[in-house]
Amino acid sequence: MAKYDYVLVGSGLFSGVIAWEAARAGKTCLVLEKRDHIGGNIYCEEVEGIHVHRYGAHIFHTSSRRVWDFVNSLVEFNRYTNSPVANYHGEIYNLPFNMNTFSRMWGIRTPEEAKRIIEEQRGEISGTPSNLEEQAISLVGRDIYEKLIRGYTEKQWGRDCRELPSFIIRRLPVRFTYDNNYFNDRFQGIPIGGYNKLTEKLFEKAEVRTGVDYLENPEEYRKLGETVVYTGPVDAYFGYCFGKLEYRTVRFETEVLDTDNYQGVAVVNYTDRETPYTRVIEHKHFEFGNQEKTVISREYSTDWKEGMEPYYPVNDEKNQALYRKYAELAQKEQGVVFGGRLGEYKYYDMDKVIESAFAAWENMQA
Ligand code: FAD
Ligand code: UDP
Repeated sequence: MAKYDYVLVGSGLFSGVIAWEAARAGKTCLVLEKRDHIGGNIYCEEVEGIHVHRYGAHIFHTSSRRVWDFVNSLVEFNRYTNSPVANYHGEIYNLPFNMNTFSRMWGIRTPEEAKRIIEEQRGEISGTPSNLEEQAISLVGRDIYEKLIRGYTEKQWGRDCRELPSFIIRRLPVRFTYDNNYFNDRFQGIPIGGYNKLTEKLFEKAEVRTGVDYLENPEEYRKLGETVVYTGPVDAYFGYCFGKLEYRTVRFETEVLDTDNYQGVAVVNYTDRETPYTRVIEHKHFEFGNQEKTVISREYSTDWKEGMEPYYPVNDEKNQALYRKYAELAQKEQGVVFGGRLGEYKYYDMDKVIESAFAAWENMQA
């Protein structure tokens, strides 16, 4: 008999939901986390009384009533609405692309005028857009593509916009209303008191060991549970036997500034090519903070190398084909469930990772 019902590898949201469901079902969990804290990438560090999103800005948004009710049953959420601003060589534009953006770009006032200009500019694209550049021009025209999309996208992905798939840009709303809300989802906010409150609740009943890398001794750790839930990188689990999956990562340069309000908004995107960073995050604005000082993070997007944090799976055919080979092995691995962003090599938003953990849990009980 194993000592625990479940050994959870990693302590991000995916594992958290499993830990919470398991506790509710009267089952025991041992959580092994290689970092020195729980929470995975939503972890926040407190600096000057401000919750600093250490692994990148996280805004919770969802259209799922079930997910929203679930997270709100654990911690209350504030009314934060993401309305980032773009800075192109000092010119300021509202995002996502909406009437405020069009008005500032072209000096126009009505949706009809905006639509006419975009219609004219998209004339240069014929047929179905086959890459990100064509897709962007056909959505919002060349002016916006050149000032607000091209530089930012090439910095973020390290590739020419003509070499990137068109779907990357399709998730951004384009609106002919004066509405700066970055998301279309029904529900949005930040946990009051920070994300750690949420993860502490999820793992409340589990036994947690931090600073433990499961892959350093998989045979021993595996024996401790009836079932293993693995949320680390799937290729690492199989010793990179088919080769390494690629990621993009972000380097953060975080600084405390002796001012109470540096940029007046949580997120500023630097959309020109010359500024080396993609975004500046001012963390206090996620929670309407009024501390005396402020903390900002500049984000630099780079290719991932071993030893760095893997963030964004690379969505190209080569990596997806490689992932499918690992997924086949994962399918055959007895007593181990692979889940989450790294376990499934999939870009999941937080609400989506919660939904997928609900589904995995239901599957595990079937
Ligand atoms: P993770 O949070 O990555 O957790 C995996 C855990 O496993 C980590 O703690 C890791 O240390 C641990 N681990 C790995 N290998 C081992 C091992 N061998 N042994 C022990 N432990 C191991 N989503 C949104 O909804 N809104 C946003 O605004 C948003 N912004 C984002 C910004 C960035 C920069 C990134 C990268 C992601 C963002 N996301 C956002 C997505 C969000 O972070 C994920 O959906 C969520 O954190 C995934 O949870 P997870 O449990 O799958 O993985
Ligand atoms: N994007 C852009 N300019 C911006 C913001 C986004 O061109 O100011 C593009 C960019 O290609 C990015 C995509 O839109 O990859 C999706 O943006 P989102 O903010 O959803 O990206 P995330 O950082 O969440 O992946």
